[in-house]
Amino acid sequence: MPERSDSDSRKLLRRLRDVLGAQSKGQERLDQITHLIADSMLTEVCSIYLFRDPETLELCATEGLKPEAVHQTRMKLGEGLVGRVARSNAPVNTADAPAEKGFRYMPETGEEIYSSFLGVPIQRVGEKLGVLVVQSKTARQFSDDEIYALEVVAMVLAEMTELGAFTSDDDGMRALHRQPVMFHGATGQEGAAEGHVWLHEPRVVVTNPVADDPLTEIDRIREAVGQLRVSVDDLLSLQSLDKDQKQVLEAYRMFANSRGWLRRMEEDIQSGLSAEAAVEKEQSAARARLETVPDAYLRERLQDLDDLSNRLLRILTGQGADTGAAMPDNPVLVARNIGPAELLEYGRKLRGVVLEDGSVGSHAAIVARALAIPLVIHARRVTTEALNGDHILVDGDQGIAHLRPEETVARAFRDKIAMQTQAQQRYASLRDLPALTRCGTTIALHMNAGLMADLPSLEGSGADGVGLFRTELQFLVRNKMPRRAELATLYARVMDAAKDKRVAFRTLDIGSDKVLPYMKPNDEPNPAMGWRAIRVGLDKPGVLRMQIQALLRAANGRPLTVMFPFVSEFSEFQNARAHVLREVHRERSLGHVVPDQLEIGAMLETPSLAFAPDAFFQLTDFVSIGGNDLKQFFFAADRENERVRRRYDMLNLSFLGFIEQIIARCAATGTPLSFCGEDAGRPIEALVLAALGLRSLSMRPASIGPVKALLRRADLGQIRAVVDAARARGDDSARPALMDHLSTLSD
Ligand code: PEP
Ligand code: MG
Repeated sequence: MPERSDSDSRKLLRRLRDVLGAQSKGQERLDQITHLIADSMLTEVCSIYLFRDPETLELCATEGLKPEAVHQTRMKLGEGLVGRVARSNAPVNTADAPAEKGFRYMPETGEEIYSSFLGVPIQRVGEKLGVLVVQSKTARQFSDDEIYALEVVAMVLAEMTELGAFTSDDDGMRALHRQPVMFHGATGQEGAAEGHVWLHEPRVVVTNPVADDPLTEIDRIREAVGQLRVSVDDLLSLQSLDKDQKQVLEAYRMFANSRGWLRRMEEDIQSGLSAEAAVEKEQSAARARLETVPDAYLRERLQDLDDLSNRLLRILTGQGADTGAAMPDNPVLVARNIGPAELLEYGRKLRGVVLEDGSVGSHAAIVARALAIPLVIHARRVTTEALNGDHILVDGDQGIAHLRPEETVARAFRDKIAMQTQAQQRYASLRDLPALTRCGTTIALHMNAGLMADLPSLEGSGADGVGLFRTELQFLVRNKMPRRAELATLYARVMDAAKDKRVAFRTLDIGSDKVLPYMKPNDEPNPAMGWRAIRVGLDKPGVLRMQIQALLRAANGRPLTVMFPFVSEFSEFQNARAHVLREVHRERSLGHVVPDQLEIGAMLETPSLAFAPDAFFQLTDFVSIGGNDLKQFFFAADRENERVRRRYDMLNLSFLGFIEQIIARCAATGTPLSFCGEDAGRPIEALVLAALGLRSLSMRPASIGPVKALLRRADLGQIRAVVDAARARGDDSARPALMDHLSTLSD
């Protein structure tokens, strides 16, 4: 360990702590601190600049510069040397500040007579708080030890800021976690919600940044790192890990065993920090690097180090994920990420979910969608900014979250929610009416489901049945393969809840984005086009058969509808169907009752199936268009890729032409056809599907009202004419013409 002037540094930190411990106002404390630092570092000037808003720094206290400049001198992020420190998150050290590029002359401060300048960022785990500066008249470079010492002091200031040490009633430091912040993320699930933050993993609060006895602290950190290593090794020995999990844990192990990491933390402790503050100091440094590293792999590793630091802090402070805090009213879950099982456990208690990571196709998003909870993903830094209980607005439609919003924003938002509620009430009044168009056509509206939690919606939404029951959700939210009896009970409950309404059970659609936590993942170059859904079912029929048996037992003589996902050619359907018939036969021979009405259908999700032989359309009991997949393969645009997934309109006339061909093929053989992708739940899209000839649509329960309302106002012949005219003109999409037409519709 390099020799540092440890005792000086420790002395300074101890004096700082005394200042912070004394009963005084925020500004007084800041003034005393600048005095102490200048005195200890033998510089004429010490100044503290803090953020007024995310873009503006303000001189909040100084020893040596003109006192009149305090709270007057401000600069933008990146402006002058102070702004440079803040922007780059790195120290600036120069012997000749006025000659330095970017130096800004601020006459009100009188700083032009000071030649040397050393500035370090004040930051706490990725949160930029301000800049700490020392200056002196003699032209000299500050030594590495001096830079380090100032960084340690900045760390303590950051911790104390977090604890509110500078936020008395005066105009001192910016009150943290009190300002409104808006997060621009992306839509995970539409809908609006107002509530209070519930952190899935609350931040660790460090109350003791300065420690008296480095030896005790070093013992503590070594002990905690030891525990951390054991826990990572334990995790690594689990059998059920997939390749990605293993890779992350290997990286954890590498860091946990890294001598450099522990050594740096021990050095921090030697200079007077507590073990916790030392962990945070290194974590802040890693976060600062994270912001500047362009390499994705390195960024991931720094992210791992960040996670590991959090674990270490939890060990040191004993603050687990459960702090004993009571869940606030109308909780909005805020997390970096969350697994589907955990999210399901919170269930409908939650008003909304805001995630820092997440993706549209993630399991958590699938569950949030099933629960109809507004979800915003990619809300960067939300877990750093939000505190338990903070007021928050979730705008799932726009992919925006407002944390601690201004009252005007909250009011506007409430108006929006009220309008949505009113619309829902209007839709509720349609619940028992049929989706009968002005031209006299009735469209059957079914709902998509996948969890028990969905089933109350069957009653509430007025759905004609369940057009798609995604059975994989039951598999995804468990940590081991469910057993046949368990599934049979569950499916029976689904059928009970549906009463005599039809439920189309889709057999397991795993692979692609849906990887079961307990199944060995396959490393595939392109999983969406890989070994998934019925392909897995046919190649390894054990699970498929078990699932069919469970369905037959659950039906216990009642009508049963089964459909296969992702069928690409006729023989796949024939084989899958043969499995069902074989199981029926077997059940019967075992003396079990079998359904007297059994429908076996296929999902049309790949363009190839639209061109299958007539024999397919004759054999299948029905076809259900899985528009989400079909669209991605028709346009060759990945449904998971934010950059392209909205690029092609479902109302593109080529795609509509393709749908018409499918409708014609089914009509020729009298095969019932439905559409169960997300687009069926979008009113204009649903209207066009109906106008093209679809008579059965399946969608999220919340979409049934809006779709029905529009269908009941529309004349399908007119809609068809608008689509045909758009095609004749050579438009890409029928949407603009339809929007024009719909704006002329009377209520
Ligand atoms: C689809 O692809 O349209 C569909 C309904 O299946 P999933 O979204 O579950 O892939
Ligand atoms: Mg699909």
